[in-house]
Amino acid sequence: MSTSSLFSRRSYGALMSRLVWPTATILLLTLGFVFTTVLWTSDSANVVAGKRQRMQLTGAIEQKLEELKARLAQLATSPEFAGPAANDRPAALAVPSPAFDFVGLFAEDGKLVNAHSRRDIDAAPAPALFADLLEAARTGGEGASSAAASGELAASRLVYDGAAALAAVALPLARPHAEASVGRLLITGYKRLDPAELRSLADLHAIDGLRLTAAAPAEGWIGLPILDHRGEAKAHLVWRPERPGDIMRERLVPLTLFGSLVAIALFAFVIGYIRWIARDLAVSQEHAQNLLGRDPLSGLPNRLLFGERLDQELSRISRSGGGLAVMFLDLDRFKDVNDTYGHAAGDELIEQVARRLEQLLRATDTLSRFGGDEFAVIQTGLRSSQDADALARRILDAVTRPFEINGTPVSVGVSIGISLAPDNGLAREDLMRLADTALYQAKSEGRNRFRFFARAMDETIRMRKTVEDDLRSAIHQDELCLHYQPIFSADGQDIVALEALVRWPHAKEGLISPSRFIAIAEERGLVIPLGEWVLRRACQDGLRWPGLRIAVNVSPIQFRHRDFVKSVMRVLKETGFEAARLELELTEGVVVEDADAAEAAMMELRAIGVHLALDDFGTGYSSLIYLRRFAFDKIKIDRSFLESMEATGESAILVHSIVHLGRALGLTVTAEGVETKEQHRFLQALGCHQLQGFLFSKPVPPDEIDRLLGIAAPEAEGVAA
Ligand code: C2E
Ligand code: MG
Ligand code: MG
Repeated sequence: MSTSSLFSRRSYGALMSRLVWPTATILLLTLGFVFTTVLWTSDSANVVAGKRQRMQLTGAIEQKLEELKARLAQLATSPEFAGPAANDRPAALAVPSPAFDFVGLFAEDGKLVNAHSRRDIDAAPAPALFADLLEAARTGGEGASSAAASGELAASRLVYDGAAALAAVALPLARPHAEASVGRLLITGYKRLDPAELRSLADLHAIDGLRLTAAAPAEGWIGLPILDHRGEAKAHLVWRPERPGDIMRERLVPLTLFGSLVAIALFAFVIGYIRWIARDLAVSQEHAQNLLGRDPLSGLPNRLLFGERLDQELSRISRSGGGLAVMFLDLDRFKDVNDTYGHAAGDELIEQVARRLEQLLRATDTLSRFGGDEFAVIQTGLRSSQDADALARRILDAVTRPFEINGTPVSVGVSIGISLAPDNGLAREDLMRLADTALYQAKSEGRNRFRFFARAMDETIRMRKTVEDDLRSAIHQDELCLHYQPIFSADGQDIVALEALVRWPHAKEGLISPSRFIAIAEERGLVIPLGEWVLRRACQDGLRWPGLRIAVNVSPIQFRHRDFVKSVMRVLKETGFEAARLELELTEGVVVEDADAAEAAMMELRAIGVHLALDDFGTGYSSLIYLRRFAFDKIKIDRSFLESMEATGESAILVHSIVHLGRALGLTVTAEGVETKEQHRFLQALGCHQLQGFLFSKPVPPDEIDRLLGIAAPEAEGVAA
């Protein structure tokens, strides 16, 4: 029966959540990846640059070594070098080459035979310089220095005792640069890395802060260890490594940040745009659905299609007989669900209700959603109203069972109004209007029920609408009027009071009696202005009839209003009407709800001289407690007692007791609704003080009262007060 909507508001929402989160996640991952790549690449660049510098330096040093080696080889074969002697003694040793800072001569066993610095070599002739050392070498190193003897340098090929001071200075800053053999002796040349050389090295390779230190490189620096002949690091060539990655990072990070912002803005824009398109699409889809006659949310026929189907069914009935029921359904408490759980939950509920209802119907029936929480049903093949009754019960049953929305049980109710064809007519508009009227009735009776249309409903609802639409303006434009019903002395001779009864002359409805609109005015909050209007008008009119008490009816809602007493005082003041001539007719409803507040208000009223009557006595709780506790002056026996008095003896007994009770409590007793002479005689005999009823006079307009009083003037004179 239903076609699910292609693109409802729900699927639009789902599309958005399907789109936004994955895209946002991808965007964030991409940004994260870009940042990580920038950091990683810049780090790698730093590492690569450091390695390259180290290689360059190593290369430069190696090259230097090669050069030195060549120089040393040359030295070994130079004529100054006498060549190995038979006793392993070099004939002479001179180190004329400026390529070395100092030179050592070692025996094969590693013992230092001779060494000297350039300065020494330059200062003295070689043979003299080396004579003692050669001697020492011959005698097995007896001339070895104290440093050599100390063992630390014993095995060294570098340092010998005669040059201890020199070696101590040179050691940390030098490294063995080249070696060459001279017979069985070994010549080692040493070259210091002097500051000038370092500078040129640094310049050559664009190295920042290149220098020699004894300590290992500090944090953020790198270095090459300078090894002595034993392979131990004696010094470090250190420099601040080139960090191209840092530069890269400095440039790339702001750029990447900017790029990210642009990407996020672009993302937001694209999402907004898609949203806009999707909404547009949803609207046009909804429009299309409407044209197709479908409700977009539930996929059910809409009001238009429902009307068409109803027309078809009705013309079939007129051709070939049979019957149908039109049902209007309205969910109870749907608004609560929407307010409590949100609109998505509300939509979900509507869909679930639609599915449940579908299951109850036959293929030939029609289920429709009119929008909001309103559904409608055409039940076809109706044999009698019993069928509609049964279906309505099943619907009530199905809808009142709890629903589950997002894992939460949710309960709603349903009110149903039913009209029947052909019983209530065969016109679509009529049947729909009558079903609506019946629905209205069902709802006002307390919801969660079904009602068949009945003629009386039409009238009730029309009146309700009239009151809702027109009463407020009628009050403000002074369109209401008051009739007065005289209240007579027990003998029926004298008018002792006048009860003001409101009337509403309506352009279309004629004179509307208060019983038709007071209750609605109470419901609609109109009874306050209405009551005040009546009170004011009654007091104004009352001025025309000096000496007569004027009774005014007060609705419980009006009485309970916290400003009621004040408004009475204000009206009395404004009109100049004497408080002692005013009698307010209250019903038991006034005192039942908040007895303390009522008592206080009544005391205030009595304090200013206003009289209080308990109207319609015997119809409500009629408890003696009220009569004793509250300061009434009068009770008015409800006319229903008089109506039934003739039929049942019980009523007569009750009236009897009420009159006696009232008298015993010192109250004035008035009987309402006296229509017959018998009633009059009976009440008079009982000792009723006052009588009111059609037997004496109906409620009449003020002019008529004038006339009545004019006629009755001579007799009324004495009793009027
Ligand atoms: P109520 O205060 O008990 O007024 C008496 C009602 O009984 C009046 O009906 C009157 O026309 C009717 N009645 C009087 N004598 C007889 C009789 O012999 N036979 C029959 N059958 N009826 C009789 P009405 O004017 O239609 O007023 C109905 C009710 O509306 C009043 O009952 C009163 O409760 C209420 N009402 C009238 N005017 C006002 C008003 O200004 N304010 C408020 N709050 N209620 C009012
Ligand atoms: Mg009354
Ligand atoms: Mg009454």
